[in-house]
Amino acid sequence: MEKVIGIDLGTTNSCVAVVENGTAVVIANRGGYKTTPSMVAMTEAGKRLVGHLAKRQAITNAENTVYSAKRLIGRKWNSPQVKQVASTASYNIVEGPHGDVRISLREKAHSVPEVSAMVLAEMKLIAEEYLGHEVQKAVVTVPAYFNDNQRQATKDAGAIAGLEVIRIINEPTAAALAYGFGRNIDRTVAVYDLGGGTFDVSILEIGATGVFKVISTAGDTFLGGEDFDSRVIDWLVEGFRDEHGIDLRKDRMALQRLKDAAEKAKVELSSVREVEINLPFIISSGRNEALHLQRVLSRTDFEQLTADLVQKTVDIMRQTLEDAGLHREDIEDVVLVGGMTRMPLVERSVAEFLGREPSKGVHPDEVVAIGAAIQGSALLDDDGPSANRVVLLDVTPQTLGMMVAGGLMEPLIPKDTTVPTARGKTFTTSRDNQTAVKILVMQGESEQADQNELLGEFILTGLRRAPAGVVEIEVTFEINADGIVSVHAKDLETGKEQSITVTATSGLTREEIEAMIDSGKEFAVERKRDEEFEARKQEAEGLMHEIERLFDKVSKVVGGSDYGRDALDKAQGVMERTKVAIDRHDAAALKEQVEALSRTFRMFKGVVAKA
Ligand code: AMP
Repeated sequence: MEKVIGIDLGTTNSCVAVVENGTAVVIANRGGYKTTPSMVAMTEAGKRLVGHLAKRQAITNAENTVYSAKRLIGRKWNSPQVKQVASTASYNIVEGPHGDVRISLREKAHSVPEVSAMVLAEMKLIAEEYLGHEVQKAVVTVPAYFNDNQRQATKDAGAIAGLEVIRIINEPTAAALAYGFGRNIDRTVAVYDLGGGTFDVSILEIGATGVFKVISTAGDTFLGGEDFDSRVIDWLVEGFRDEHGIDLRKDRMALQRLKDAAEKAKVELSSVREVEINLPFIISSGRNEALHLQRVLSRTDFEQLTADLVQKTVDIMRQTLEDAGLHREDIEDVVLVGGMTRMPLVERSVAEFLGREPSKGVHPDEVVAIGAAIQGSALLDDDGPSANRVVLLDVTPQTLGMMVAGGLMEPLIPKDTTVPTARGKTFTTSRDNQTAVKILVMQGESEQADQNELLGEFILTGLRRAPAGVVEIEVTFEINADGIVSVHAKDLETGKEQSITVTATSGLTREEIEAMIDSGKEFAVERKRDEEFEARKQEAEGLMHEIERLFDKVSKVVGGSDYGRDALDKAQGVMERTKVAIDRHDAAALKEQVEALSRTFRMFKGVVAKA
């Protein structure tokens, strides 16, 4: 029997699950642990170690032990996040040939997907040992807020590990799936996911028919447990400097020991009120005398050191609710995911903000892998029993658009749009005799293009020489079910087309992005005025509003007959199709639907008048 495994590829730990006889089980590794450290090391003898084996030797082999590769995946060498990791990591990060990031292990430079692939291969192996046969397919999870490059790189990592990644799904969505699957519930839930390196929050509607619809999502791919550890490290380093005038950061081995001690203290402070951090012989003074580090950290002090980090997550949660158009009271349950949610301040802050205690039913370290396994099995078994059917409707976390004349961002796919989706718009040239246009693909919420992240660019050339505004170019953005973006541009006159799967320019510095935008301005396009479409859209929305208002009344009158029920279904169908036509910016379809809506509305009015 073909199996699909679900892998939660975490910053700190990874977890693998599989569905057996209709239930998802988390698979323990050889040591009996259900999670495996996302760590990779190379020994002096050239042996590769992954997971617990890598973690166990990290202190004595700090330079050749990689952790938190997920913080680097899909990022460019120049990005501020990579700079931050490079300045604190105990292993070496170097610039790759394409401005990408390489990690050196015993002199050999590896790409980040290669390192992540070693972790994925280990998870594959754990599953294979348990199942007793080879596994080829996997669903791998990523933070909802991962951008296109990070998703692509994760997929690449799967391929390098010898896995066919049949779907990439968002971690909070996977958690919601694990929470709601097979429970026949109908409710609105918030998933708060604070892991080792990333924070995500999603609001979902779970329907009894197996539909999991994400309404909004937000997050920060650079906020997680490691930042909490860093605060403790800073506190220790500063204290030590005040006392001895020595900067412990300069010593890799000391740094690795500090990192370990900080994380351990943090974890312990979730259950005790005070911990003693004790690191004998941490460094030697200039006079060859060994120095020790010994300090006591209380939970209250630790909470003070990290209060702003927790507050940041609460602010993001507030924003997500607003984006969903919901109030705190509308949230019927909260699912906590990720090891960091065991920190009492985190749990308290979430409970206080939402005014309810989080759900206790799910295991924060395992739910994501379980959700991935459920989705994997549902994908394999598309026409299985309806009890197993799941429909995941996820959304795109950030607005996708392109730069238009004036350096403005023109949104094509707004944030929180259900994926997969495709949207097109027609643009015109912005200058006389402009024979080329440059499409700069951007992700972000600012109206100013240069404030957003540049995902990629390409040029459509060979346009006819004509006055500005005459030559028309149709640009279509597409996001597939993995959240991966592709863009097509078409010269409407000649039919000449150009398309790309967006990759590999993200993570540039602000200055580089500004320079690229600046050089692209000459090739910018203008948005084509589409007043007709806008007017028709307003008409459609007005009609849909009226129809919805009358819907209950009409159902009461005609819902008793087959004929009546059929008419109601048809009305709903017309409204759905109208929404799709609006979403796709499909003028012809919208025109048709407006006519259908008018007929429906007249019929509804007639029914109500007679009743
Ligand atoms: P995850 O990426 O979900 O595996 O989360 C791992 C993060 O959770 C790491 O930063 C851990 O240090 C942290 N963590 C694990 N257990 C605890 C705990 N009991 N209290 C606080 N943080 C924890």
